[in-house]
Amino acid sequence: MDAIKGLMDFIDRAPTAFHAVAAIRAELEAAGYACLSERERWQLEPGGRYCLTRNGSSVIAFRVPEGGLNHFQIVASHSDSPAFKLKPNPARTSQGCAVLNVEKYGGMLMSTWLDRPLSIAGRLVVAEEDGLRTRLVNVDAPLAVIPNMPIHFNRSANDGVAWNAQVDMQPVYGMEGADYLQTVAEWAGVEPERVAGGDLFLYNRDRATRFGVDGAFISAPRLDDLECAYTSLRAFLAAKPTGHVDVYCVFDNEEVGSGTKQGADSTLLIETLRRIALALDGAPQALEAAIAGSFMVSADNAHAAHPNHPDKYDPENRTFMNGGVVVKSNANQKYTTDGVSAAVFERICAGAGVPTQRFANRSDVPGGSTLGNIANAHASMNTVDIGLAQLAMHSAMETAGARDVEHMIRALTAFYEAEIDVRSDGWIEIK
Ligand code: ZN
Repeated sequence: MDAIKGLMDFIDRAPTAFHAVAAIRAELEAAGYACLSERERWQLEPGGRYCLTRNGSSVIAFRVPEGGLNHFQIVASHSDSPAFKLKPNPARTSQGCAVLNVEKYGGMLMSTWLDRPLSIAGRLVVAEEDGLRTRLVNVDAPLAVIPNMPIHFNRSANDGVAWNAQVDMQPVYGMEGADYLQTVAEWAGVEPERVAGGDLFLYNRDRATRFGVDGAFISAPRLDDLECAYTSLRAFLAAKPTGHVDVYCVFDNEEVGSGTKQGADSTLLIETLRRIALALDGAPQALEAAIAGSFMVSADNAHAAHPNHPDKYDPENRTFMNGGVVVKSNANQKYTTDGVSAAVFERICAGAGVPTQRFANRSDVPGGSTLGNIANAHASMNTVDIGLAQLAMHSAMETAGARDVEHMIRALTAFYEAEIDVRSDGWIEIK
């Protein structure tokens, strides 16, 4: 399957972070990666390939080199996207309809969720005889719609609407008496009375599609950041083993600040690196010395210059779809990129024949941030923030350049295969 089709198929199969991580884990296991449990003590073999998940919604995979511990080369992205989450008591009725009570997860463009076929997916907690188990569920059929108000009741609707999540964003999923839990439990293959809890989200049923002359673009839900999660997985699996530890990370909860047990602001990454260092080299300070020589790529999608709003972007530091991998910079370090990390990464891309472009916001636009600087607070190393240029970030349907899929896979394959040698005097050699 070509990479663009592979990406679109992955997005269609990943309505939530739980499903994205399950699909990634299945691919890693099929490629020979042994799944480790954080509950156990790890025995790692030279040349071994391993992965682990936390909460079922974050995943780390790594390859141990034959020659012992040297340093880490890490690519990190995120598994979650803005969506509406079902509240603990979600069932309501109104005007003869069955309605769900939902709240915002992350900062989406709310209006883009209106009048589209939606459904429910996520994780159920199921009561078994001997305890509680979690189980993924995806109601793989159109189930709900968040209906707009007709123009006749709001003649100024086209001049802008202030959307209220509590009032305007509650989806209709049946006539009064319909039971959403019955449907969800059926799709999960369990009796409704055994459902003890869950984390359920609405998701957009629209499928990823390619459009435009010569198939220039991809339109899909959740491109931010499943495009980076997928392309970095392809690169990680394609890269030839080297003398350092290659690490692939996908963290949950970037869209809500990363501050969960499985987010980038948790112990997940540093504890994994510590365990790798201990298993390969039990000497004191082995971990610290390895991290000091390490390099991280924080991969999260970037903004493409909008054809209808060119004035919103910096004149010299704007980026374009299909223009190659974006290196993001911000003077206040919302992005981790600095002169050194940008130069290292751009040089690796140039060596692989991959175009790059530089992004910075207008000086009067605060812009967004991502997980690179958050992960860096726990495992501090040279880091660069990159992404692929896309339109309509945080819309229910986003648009990106089809040719950039290949650009990112080639760039990150070259990154994993490069030997980045950070010397004590600050000199960096790239082999
Ligand atoms: Zn993102």
